[in-house]
Amino acid sequence: MATVNLRIPGPTPCPEDALEAGAQQMINHRGPEFADLINRSHERLQQVFATENDVVLLTASGTGAMEAAIVNTLSPGDQVLGISIGVFGDRFCQIAEGYGIEVVKPKFDLGAAADVDVIRQALNDNPGVKAVLVTHNETSTGVTNDLGAISRVVKEFDKLLLVDAVSSLGCIPCETDAWGCDVVVTASQKGFMVPPGLAFASISPRAWEASKEAKLPRFYFDFGRHKSYFEQGQTPWTPAVSVMYSLDVTLSAMLASGMGAVHEHHASIGRRAREGVKSLGLKLFATDERYASDTVTSIHGPEGVNLGDLLKLLRTEYNTVLAAGQGPMMLGKVFRIGHMGYVSEADIDAVLDALRDALPRVGFAGAA
Ligand code: PLP
Repeated sequence: MATVNLRIPGPTPCPEDALEAGAQQMINHRGPEFADLINRSHERLQQVFATENDVVLLTASGTGAMEAAIVNTLSPGDQVLGISIGVFGDRFCQIAEGYGIEVVKPKFDLGAAADVDVIRQALNDNPGVKAVLVTHNETSTGVTNDLGAISRVVKEFDKLLLVDAVSSLGCIPCETDAWGCDVVVTASQKGFMVPPGLAFASISPRAWEASKEAKLPRFYFDFGRHKSYFEQGQTPWTPAVSVMYSLDVTLSAMLASGMGAVHEHHASIGRRAREGVKSLGLKLFATDERYASDTVTSIHGPEGVNLGDLLKLLRTEYNTVLAAGQGPMMLGKVFRIGHMGYVSEADIDAVLDALRDALPRVGFAGAA
């Protein structure tokens, strides 16, 4: 069988050496080899996060780490500002609401980045806000928020900043310390190029302070428990050891090439995807291309084309797997090309070639 060009925004393909590493025999997760592994991973994760803060390794998907960010810093009845520009921003807000947090949620146009002036106004209007929840890169719309600018406003108001960087970290610059991000969460199956199973959260000194006061219930995701076990070279609960083996390989490769080069690679791949898509006569979902994501390109379904048919044809006849639109506003109207982590120019060119051939077969008449 020909290799599938898996171009969804996670799980991403994994390099062969990372997969082989993941197939190694188990070790004692309370023994010295594991302590070496977690210490090494922690130190490298700090470099990828651009932080000197603690970084905890959770055995969970990204959503688990989002929940961890909330339960470790907030108390029932607290008010937060939820900056949502799509499905994953909504999810962050829903987790908070599920825990009895009051969420103030300004409205942004779908396909746009969050407007910093709207955030400033919302913080002015709601002085009781304790924390701001924000998605760095909104995977559903293919839009990257200007996290640096948002963090400056949040810090003007001296609020906690909780960041979902699941589809950005390790691909798009995320300056955890320079931007004063208090908790930044991400997951293994995206920029880190390893299978799903691990999530990471960086915790600033200020977030540690907040965690002392935070009254929301927590156990599995309790940052304090993770920190005290980490001090003994362990995790509190059995970790996804195999994913850690793989991560050891990819972290080492990422840092060997340098994070600057990794970011530049994604910027260049993102440009290539967008230029290619436009040259086919398709329209980007991002309304302002300056904020179009370098890890996922969301595209309007062309007039008269059934996107289900298009994605099926690509999968069955072109070995190309793209992602459908997400959520009631975008399902059937948008499709997405993932280009984060283990992706080359040739992978993007192959997607564009497949689209060029397949689109007329599902009724695409060309650019309007
Ligand atoms: N946040 C963003 C921006 C994402 O892209 C995703 C997954 O695609 C998540 C959160 C949720 O992560 P997971 O599916 O690992 O729980």
